Amino acid sequence: MPLYVVATPIGNLQDLTARAREILSTCDGVVAEDTRHSEKLLRHLGVRKALHSLPAFDEQARADGILSRLASGASLALVTDAGTPAVSDPGSILVRKAVAQGIPVIPVPGPSAAIAAVSVSGFPETRFHFAGFLPRKQKTRGEMLGELRALRSQLVFYESPQRLGETLRELHGALGDRTALVARELTKVHEELARGTLSELATRFAGETRGEIVIVVSGAGVPEAADPAELEQEVRDRLARGERPKGIAEALGPAHGKREVYQLALRLQEESD
Ligand code: SAM
Repeated sequence: MPLYVVATPIGNLQDLTARAREILSTCDGVVAEDTRHSEKLLRHLGVRKALHSLPAFDEQARADGILSRLASGASLALVTDAGTPAVSDPGSILVRKAVAQGIPVIPVPGPSAAIAAVSVSGFPETRFHFAGFLPRKQKTRGEMLGELRALRSQLVFYESPQRLGETLRELHGALGDRTALVARELTKVHEELARGTLSELATRFAGETRGEIVIVVSGAGVPEAADPAELEQEVRDRLARGERPKGIAEALGPAHGKREVYQLALRLQEESD
């Protein structure tokens, strides 16, 4: 009856947990993103199981068949090609439907590339935001980067090697030249942790790159406190150009606080009258 959501290695087979091995050995069947891929893992474990396919492009349609097997009493283990199911991988639709039907869903945690990369970033922010793959459409991509820009959390992206250089350049443009980490081929023979600013990393990865990649970018810094004398001069200059306190507050409010700027502008206007 339960649906076990089982994390599998992201490269190094020794990272499969003892509990994952036990569940995969004792469950009634395995639900896999790609059955041929997961068959290799099961063979490595010496396990033979009925495999049910749950590809990302067809999860909605396939989920119901899997749910009826669970409802009829089978215990099934969901795995994806690598890492934790439902993290930029199929699984969330099946889990949602299972929850709605009152089927127990049990996590069997283990490797995930995002968590592995955050664990070695060394960045000061204690929080992180998992952004996954950026959308392909330029407009949606730009909007998402605009939203992420203000976050004080580390930002975690998945990216393909072909797009790495371009994406690093784009992140530099959208977020500023922040400190970042490119974590390539984690847990594998050619594991690489490349550190630097986004512009340095964009130069370094401008050419051809191979392997699987996580990018971690440090969060937005705490805005520097404005120099009161500079702010006052800016407001005086604007008043002198004929701008009104309300307009000045609108313009400078996002950086300095709308209310504070408005009151400062009113005071300076009165002084000059
Ligand atoms: N569910 C997986 C997880 O928990 O990490 C992620 C699956 S997603 C389809 C695949 C992406 O994860 C890759 O394109 C890459 O960005 C990242 N990834 C997976 N394995 C990796 C590894 N060994 N090193 C670096 N990144 C990896």
